[in-house]
Amino acid sequence: MNIDTLSIASARKALDAKEYSARELAEAHLNAIEHTNPELNAYLEVFDDVRAQADHADEVLRRGEQKALTGIPLAMKDNILIQGKRVSAASKILENYVAPYDATVTKKLKAQHAIFLGRTNLDEFAMGSSTENSAFGRTKHPLDPSRIPGGSSGGSAAAVKGGLALGAFGSDTGGSVRQPASLCGLVGLKPTYGTISRYGLIAFGSSLDQIGPLTRTVEDARILYDATRGADPNDSTSVPDSFFDKRSHKKKIGVPRDLLVAGVDPDVLQLFEQQLKKLEEVGYELADVKLPSFTFGLAAYYIVNPAEASANLARFDGIRYGLSEDGGDITDVYFKTRGKGFGKEVRRRILIGTYVLSAGYVDAYYRKAEQLRDVMRAELATVLENVDAVAMPTSPTPAFKAGEKEDPLAMYAADIFTVPVNLTGAPGLSVPCGSVVRDSVNLPVGFQLVGAHGGEEMLFVIAEQVENTR
Ligand code: GLN
Repeated sequence: MNIDTLSIASARKALDAKEYSARELAEAHLNAIEHTNPELNAYLEVFDDVRAQADHADEVLRRGEQKALTGIPLAMKDNILIQGKRVSAASKILENYVAPYDATVTKKLKAQHAIFLGRTNLDEFAMGSSTENSAFGRTKHPLDPSRIPGGSSGGSAAAVKGGLALGAFGSDTGGSVRQPASLCGLVGLKPTYGTISRYGLIAFGSSLDQIGPLTRTVEDARILYDATRGADPNDSTSVPDSFFDKRSHKKKIGVPRDLLVAGVDPDVLQLFEQQLKKLEEVGYELADVKLPSFTFGLAAYYIVNPAEASANLARFDGIRYGLSEDGGDITDVYFKTRGKGFGKEVRRRILIGTYVLSAGYVDAYYRKAEQLRDVMRAELATVLENVDAVAMPTSPTPAFKAGEKEDPLAMYAADIFTVPVNLTGAPGLSVPCGSVVRDSVNLPVGFQLVGAHGGEEMLFVIAEQVENTR
């Protein structure tokens, strides 16, 4: 077995055909992790019960009761709860916090007897685009250790690209599944808001957050998506199956060329255009579309996101969860715990969020940004009446160097093509479309497809065309 390139679908066939056991597959991954993870820092913890999980999966296989993910070794971003395991959100404030229950996603994966290898590194509380904001050290790009793997689900992406898991879950609030997938040459899906339960995902921006898969193939992304989606009584924003878009294929793709202006790497743009041509060659029609409000997506996102983050992170008060510092009175406990427990970017978001929600500024900032979201949603819906999906680059650049974007605004600009999608709630998928050479290394580039709410199937179909033509 070549675990570096093995897909979930192929591993399924091999496990079913008894070419190897779940135990052997898990051992191969543990060996690779032992060898590579000290350098990569993709995993913050490798679980001590992987072999036991694998033996259990082998028993299920022996009984012939296997499901799609039985015995498949996966990685979980360290902000998704697995009961009894630590879950830190890569923050000092939750360093030793143990999850008291399973996330719905975890429960669904356990029901299929998937194997959890460990918890993967992220930017603290998923705030960032490079995994450099982790309190536990940065994750390195598997193809060039001087570069970042993207973020915030950089640990998950590095694990799958580096041969340390067959697939992984991340969370995408503004691009954190799609952007690291793009930078690492993987498929990454940010599903429609509400299609995968957020129950048991540590909340960041609740109206933006979605859990999503990072995989080596489009087929694998579909497998992980199918295994984890569905309405959940524990998440009041989750949607029923009847919600899914069943429109027929028009074989037409919208390209918002007005958005592809300043700041996009010319090589990335060239690969994007080449991929569009290839889609044309296999029968897709290209249409110029206009999404003028998307120009303000980044600005609106960096108001809505900190606003929601500041409210969500108020619960980390030194009393209810994790770290607790002694203080003279309760205010002192808050100051000391939060001052010590939260990193710089988290404190920055809390400050911005508190400001834009304050009585004097809420109308000027937060409410304006929320109004813009309505306009964005309406514009996208109108465009999607005539096309199957909108295509954009996923990230304006290939993987950048560690330390290159110390200015937070430069880091935020990396999200220009991903955050608008979360503001609308629509699904977005990144699929590899080639690579560019930097310092003699081939660095992957992603092609992003944005669909109608509930239109994941359409994205999978088009992404498979990209996969077949690149
Ligand atoms: N990079 C974006 C941010 O920092 C998106 C993060 C995410 O999707 N979790 O907010």
